[in-house]
Amino acid sequence: MRIFDPHIHMTSRTTDDYQRMAEAGVRAVVEPAFWLGQPRTNPGSFADYFDSLIGWEPFRAGQFGIRHHATIALNPKEANDPRCRPVLDLLPRYLAKDGVVAVGEIGYDSMTPAEDEVFAAQLALALDHDLPALVHTPHRDKARGTSRSLDVVKESGIDPGRVLLDHLNEVTVDAARDAGVWLGFSIYPDTKMSPDRMVEILRRYGPERVLVNSAADWGRSDPLLTLRTGEAMLAAGFEADAVDRVLWRNPVEFYGQSKRLDLSALPEAGATYAGNSILRGGS
Ligand SMILES: [Zn+2]
Repeated sequence: MRIFDPHIHMTSRTTDDYQRMAEAGVRAVVEPAFWLGQPRTNPGSFADYFDSLIGWEPFRAGQFGIRHHATIALNPKEANDPRCRPVLDLLPRYLAKDGVVAVGEIGYDSMTPAEDEVFAAQLALALDHDLPALVHTPHRDKARGTSRSLDVVKESGIDPGRVLLDHLNEVTVDAARDAGVWLGFSIYPDTKMSPDRMVEILRRYGPERVLVNSAADWGRSDPLLTLRTGEAMLAAGFEADAVDRVLWRNPVEFYGQSKRLDLSALPEAGATYAGNSILRGGS
């Protein structure tokens, strides 16, 4: 089984996770810029984080034969802090980088006026930079958050075929499907979907435009839940081709719209990281 995890926060994970993912068949990941738990107080903290998402983290993934790309944005939660707002001015520089395959994750956390502005501004940046957009739906008040997100997407003028609406569930999938966006499902302990619930959704709607991710991060989460979903699909009678479509070809097709996806074979492990001269020759 070849697996592309289209939403995982590897910054928060260990090298043991990379090892287990590689052994499970994960060959590519997309890491969206997000909230790190500890609030940031100035744009410089974001610049260093964005640099690590396009420099250090792809290097780390590469040591396990995994291709790593990023999406870059000011996340919905920190969009509410005026000290973070100047991050919007940093984005054009990062959205021009090779390893950046979408604007994201953007969208709503608490649906505040500040979030409205930052969400719309970043959809405009996606249009300006000819990039797809990864849109997070809020965990609280999800149905209202989803329909409001779809309204903002529509108003922006972006082609819905270039939008991935993520963290969907049984309640929100119909509205997203009707809007013509790509459908993202996070298989995440407790708060989101399980592999069995995901299989039921796939039975009902089929694999078209459906992406499955682990959304693994600093919370209780599991980077192998993509594999577990593929296994549950096979056990439920899905063909291997349907599994490959959901776990590989759909993310390739969605993020491929950036024209920046590089899935060529990686060089042999053992290279040294040259992105930050301070680390050169270090331990
Ligand atoms: Zn996320």
